Amino acid sequence: MKTSSTGLMICIVALLCSCDLAAAEPTEKTVLRVLLIDGQNNHKWQETTPLIQRTLQGTGRFTVDVATSPPRGGDMTKFDPSFDGYDVVVSNYNGDTWSEKTQAAFQQYVAGGGGFVSVHAANNSFPGWEQYNRMIGLGGWGGRNETDGPYIRWKEDLKKFTRDPSPGKGGAHGKRVPFMIIVRDPDHPITKGLPRSWMQTADELYGKLRGPAENMHVLATGYSNPDTNGTGEHEPLLMTIHYGKGRVFHTTLGHDAAAMQGLAFQISLQRGTEWAATGEVTFGDVDSSVLTSDQPAVRDLSSSSATITN
Ligand code: ZN
Repeated sequence: MKTSSTGLMICIVALLCSCDLAAAEPTEKTVLRVLLIDGQNNHKWQETTPLIQRTLQGTGRFTVDVATSPPRGGDMTKFDPSFDGYDVVVSNYNGDTWSEKTQAAFQQYVAGGGGFVSVHAANNSFPGWEQYNRMIGLGGWGGRNETDGPYIRWKEDLKKFTRDPSPGKGGAHGKRVPFMIIVRDPDHPITKGLPRSWMQTADELYGKLRGPAENMHVLATGYSNPDTNGTGEHEPLLMTIHYGKGRVFHTTLGHDAAAMQGLAFQISLQRGTEWAATGEVTFGDVDSSVLTSDQPAVRDLSSSSATITN
């Protein structure tokens, strides 16, 4: 009897100690749980998924699990990830339609207050899934046209965004070149404390995107230069969308591993993912000596131990 009550006391003491330890660090931020989706893409997702993981996990703010779908043409009924328990879902996916069950679960997750981040060609995906297109605001390719919604462009002469319903295909890009990202809302948590413009390393500058663009806010644009086969328009690059109670961050950056070395990609993804998860950004300000506007700043993430210090 004596031995067992001593054991009980030790257990109680151990429990109290663990509580005390937890209480000793009340200001420590919660690590945000990310579910990264891949498995199909007309881009090299096997190369880019580890870079997205490192960009997020390297900050110490996120842990990233990956849900990989069956390959193209596979049995999509087997792709049934559980979204519950994640603060934010990040898509590096552009492929076969998900099962109705998975679509419904995802809609419910985001509408119920979950975060979602669409990276580059994730906005090519699911042209026929109406609710997905409401989440991403704008999409490209896949037969998208004027029936899917307007083009959204910044008009420098008017100093405002316009909605252009004119007929035409959705989705275009010129040559892969470095380009300037211009912040159009410096007061949003994602862009606040960043320079007003900075360079992204060679990447695809998506243009002619179209979609419902409801509850959508464009944070930054890039000029798609006709000299490099661009559209001649200031195209949306970074956007936020509210879908139900959920927050969506949409970045068109990140065509390939080289583009993901750009600090412009990395910093905007980190801040946008945190905002989608929590509605706030706790990363510090970044000045123009880091996010440069003359030459694009890059950070090599090819080492799996790369640490991020913004
Ligand atoms: Zn691309």
